Amino acid sequence: MDIVLATKNKKKAAEMSRMFKGQDFRFLTLESFPDCPDVEEDGKTFRANALKKGRAVASFTGHPALADDSGLEVLALGKAPGVYSARYAGPDADDRKNLKKLLREMRELEGEERDARFVCCMALVLPDGHHKTFTGYVSGRIGKKEKGNNGFGYDPVFYPEGHAGTFAEMDASEKDSMSHRGRALKKLFQYLSSVALL
Ligand code: IMP
Repeated sequence: MDIVLATKNKKKAAEMSRMFKGQDFRFLTLESFPDCPDVEEDGKTFRANALKKGRAVASFTGHPALADDSGLEVLALGKAPGVYSARYAGPDADDRKNLKKLLREMRELEGEERDARFVCCMALVLPDGHHKTFTGYVSGRIGKKEKGNNGFGYDPVFYPEGHAGTFAEMDASEKDSMSHRGRALKKLFQYLSSVALL
């Protein structure tokens, strides 16, 4: 079975591709469908955005699509940046600006007030509109300084619970084993094998 990965974020695509290694289906990216229109992520939940992206890509390509929407929630900031994680610093936001803004907003917060979690919702959408969603979480704490050079986004300040290093200090397989995206994908693989598609 061919599945199209509905993201233009190269780092996310790379993470998902490496987690798909060994699975028994062909994995296509949006690079194979350059005319696929962009989808505005205007949903209020990760699930709504993932489904919207998945539906658009499945109907454009005629293949099952796997879309992910993910982000960081800081309880003390009312779950911000949440679904706005990619554009937290405004319309010209990038990973650097978003991370700086997060550290600025949290500069007065101490201890448990720095608790946060990453959320990832994966939507598997068939061209006929049938769909199923899978959500993964990883809890942790936001550090005061950036540490490490791996990963992307908020990785350099995110310490997963029970670990002394940030996601950006981990190698790929260590991050995958506990990340929100890894956990959502694990649920997807369990589902696919339960319906005998793997
Ligand atoms: P989207 O899912 O493409 O809307 O973007 C999610 C945003 O959340 C990214 O641009 C990052 O800022 C952040 N994010 C999601 N997953 C991760 C992760 O694994 N590490 C660091 N940041 C992440």
